[in-house]
Amino acid sequence: MAVLVTGGAGYIGSHTVAALVERGEEIVVIDNLQQGHREAVIGGKLYVGDLRDADVLDTVFKENNIDAVIHFAANSLVGESMKLPGKYYHNNVYGTLCLLEKMNEYNVKKIVFSSTAATYGEPENVPIDELDRTVPTNAYGETKLAMEKMMKWFDTAHGIKFVSLRYFNAAGAHESGRIGEDHAPETHLVPIVLQAALGQRPHISVFGDDYGTPDGTCIRDYIHVSDLADAHVLAVDRLRGGADSAVYNLGNGQGFSVKEVIEIARKVTSREIPMIIEPRRAGDPAVLVASSSRARNELGWNPKRNQLEDIIRSAWTWHQANPGGYSAKD
Ligand code: UDP
Repeated sequence: MAVLVTGGAGYIGSHTVAALVERGEEIVVIDNLQQGHREAVIGGKLYVGDLRDADVLDTVFKENNIDAVIHFAANSLVGESMKLPGKYYHNNVYGTLCLLEKMNEYNVKKIVFSSTAATYGEPENVPIDELDRTVPTNAYGETKLAMEKMMKWFDTAHGIKFVSLRYFNAAGAHESGRIGEDHAPETHLVPIVLQAALGQRPHISVFGDDYGTPDGTCIRDYIHVSDLADAHVLAVDRLRGGADSAVYNLGNGQGFSVKEVIEIARKVTSREIPMIIEPRRAGDPAVLVASSSRARNELGWNPKRNQLEDIIRSAWTWHQANPGGYSAKD
């Protein structure tokens, strides 16, 4: 049996493909390569196409013996989603609808879903528990929540079981050095800080220092991308074992402010990394920190690379070796 990974050429998708291939799974990837990179798919069979294209999904499900899907394919930028919500509803929500309908048609009844802490919005408790309220502050989080809810009703009606993994902030790169983070344009804090360290940017812009946090900058919970990948493998196992649908947070349970991330990056890189304060970015909650005890207890998840310094060091190794990202090697 094969696992279909949608968005498997993207950052977290490609690390999950690598983890599945490492344990001998047969992997099929579908990716429209809008954000993904062909070179990032190490070991899987890649179909270049979009979930909203019924013909592509028919081909993928007919040509392969798929028993489970891991669904990453989506747009995922908070700032962009505030400017282009329609793009997010179309690709994320409608794309997921197309996928679930095809899964039902081809009798594939297991899906692991790439969700996000952005489903919570401004948290009522810190750390955030899975039962806390979900009131997204941005269109991206709203679409991910809509996708989760859609899965719930496809479970009720059609018995498609899901595990939704709500990630906090992914960072770092694969220990092989073969894959890492490369978005165009890059908007995420850790790679941008490292681009500034490499001199590819004149400085890092800090989006707001007037939040209600100790140093005024936003606090996030950073988790190594390979630890996230491991959780997907465990979630597939859990569904194959016949478990019911569930939602899990994935984070380290420890928050770091934007200024703290920059400080740690200065230490790791031994570079200056100039910083300037800019206005807040629309849609950003002040603090997002996970309680992941449910994933630890029920999935048996045990993140191994949990020091932020080590996470940033692994990203730094990738960025130094690939200063232009994947495309520079084409
Ligand atoms: N951030 C920043 N400058 C940047 C990019 C991000 O100050 O150039 C901040 C952003 O406002 C947020 C945090 O860093 O508070 C993490 O942002 P990122 O986009 O990496 O992840 P998100 O939390 O939005 O998923």
